[in-house]
Amino acid sequence: MATVFNFSAGPAIMPKDVLRQAQAELLDFQGSGMSVMEMSHRGDEYMAIQAEAEKNIRTLLGVPENYHVLFLQGGATTEFALVPMNLLHAGQSADYTLSGAWGKKAVDEAKVLGKVNVIADTNAARPCRVPTPAELKETAGAAYLHITSNETISGAQWKAFPKTTAPLVADMSSDIASRVIDVKQFGVIYAGAQKNLGPSGVTLVIIRKDLAEAARKDIPAIFRYQTHAENESMLNTPPCFSIYLLMLVTRWIAKQGGVAAIQKVNDAKAAKLYAAIDGSGFYKGAADKAHRSTMNVTFNLPNEDLEKKFAKQAEAEGLKQLKGHRSVGGLRASIYNAFPAEGVDALVSFMREFEKKTG
Ligand SMILES: *Cc1c(COP(=O)(O)O)cnc(C)c1O
Repeated sequence: MATVFNFSAGPAIMPKDVLRQAQAELLDFQGSGMSVMEMSHRGDEYMAIQAEAEKNIRTLLGVPENYHVLFLQGGATTEFALVPMNLLHAGQSADYTLSGAWGKKAVDEAKVLGKVNVIADTNAARPCRVPTPAELKETAGAAYLHITSNETISGAQWKAFPKTTAPLVADMSSDIASRVIDVKQFGVIYAGAQKNLGPSGVTLVIIRKDLAEAARKDIPAIFRYQTHAENESMLNTPPCFSIYLLMLVTRWIAKQGGVAAIQKVNDAKAAKLYAAIDGSGFYKGAADKAHRSTMNVTFNLPNEDLEKKFAKQAEAEGLKQLKGHRSVGGLRASIYNAFPAEGVDALVSFMREFEKKTG
């Protein structure tokens, strides 16, 4: 098998050990003679997998007892709709920050359902950045305040979270479990799994119990956080195999020493790459230094032609999927939890070589 370094923004690299274990157990899960894909979701074997997934998430992220941990389907995009469907009551408004492409999608979906106040808009800021906690002026009586903790496309990340009056709702799809957070600061955290937690197909939702309880009841059961909570994420057939892989990823994170240990590694990987960018007159970081992401490192070359050449040559040398998102161009190195430090070293050497040849 070819050795490559996979910089994909999502679906993204998985820990190799997890893939190996899934492969070893694919046909026969722990002597059952069945694949996890083939088992009843109500059977003991599968129930134990999902219970461990929840327990591990609670331990790794420090989720307090008064929060539900839910495994849902539909990706983070579905949460753009479910959050306002559940939490935005008739006559209320919700506050949103608009800091990039994902924040914009969240705003657009919420607008379909109710009154939205965009209280901070950094979408057009170049270099890219997110609002600062000090820039937020909450609307009195807002149902919640929504932020995107890491804008995967622009590469801008919240470094400190605001202390809010309204419940804080965060789309953490691309930096969940990459750094220590205080869950108590949030009303709702949601994340599609396919960046840091596993494959696509499952969405993690962490919601304060009183918010789920008080949420709207005039929507179908399948869209209500409370019914999913009451049914322990088994209102209908869960995405069993995705949850199984997520569970293996949580075990892997624990084996690395937990989120605090992973954060140190992530910080070191990102620092190395940003140092290479800052130390050259050739490469230019796309995000503001105070806001730049440890997960998605975005940068530009002097012109688009060089960027195309860079991505193509890198691909040929096994540095895969470095092309920036089609909406912003440039280059993007996504270096999630499972991305190895050697891959960052390989990219830094490639960047030096490329600059020498073309710069
Ligand atoms: C990837 C991503 C999404 C979209 O997730 P889907 O699972 O495809 O719906 C939303 N928000 C952020 C921040 C993301 O990185």
